[in-house]
Amino acid sequence: MGSEIQKNFVEKNAEYAQTFDKGDLALPPAKKYLILTCMDARIDPAAAFGISLGDAHVIRNAGASAKDAQRSIVISEQLLGTREIILVKHTGCGMLTFTNDDAHALVKQNLGPTAAAELGPLDFLTFTDLEAAVQEDVGFLKRSATVPEDVKITGWVYEVETGKVRQVV
Ligand SMILES: [Zn+2]
Repeated sequence: MGSEIQKNFVEKNAEYAQTFDKGDLALPPAKKYLILTCMDARIDPAAAFGISLGDAHVIRNAGASAKDAQRSIVISEQLLGTREIILVKHTGCGMLTFTNDDAHALVKQNLGPTAAAELGPLDFLTFTDLEAAVQEDVGFLKRSATVPEDVKITGWVYEVETGKVRQVV
């Protein structure tokens, strides 16, 4: 028997597929941009940022880390033609609530030494200042030789309390 989550997943998908009529979209994003944002469950990128199906790549990870997203960004730009990056971190981000050491300690405590060894010196890419982290990540992308100079890059904060975005850089 599937879980309640699987049941919901299958049922809602069947409803979705019943009226689905976008099966002929092209693979490259039509509007040639990518949005990098956090995996936070309170962010609905398509609704909040006006993304129609087929328009843009949406890359998500813990904290909207540019470094963590580098692989996907290169693929998006070099293979699929995107020319603009909108980086969106958000208020109340979980990545503000623990340190890299905390995360490593938690892994060791909960999962044991084999798991800790498997992660090695992994950087969980936590941050302590939201605006500074947006600036740092935009700086990382602007300096990176893997991002062409003519790619437009802006950095934003999304407020989970109001649904509003504000530009940082
Ligand atoms: Zn977050």
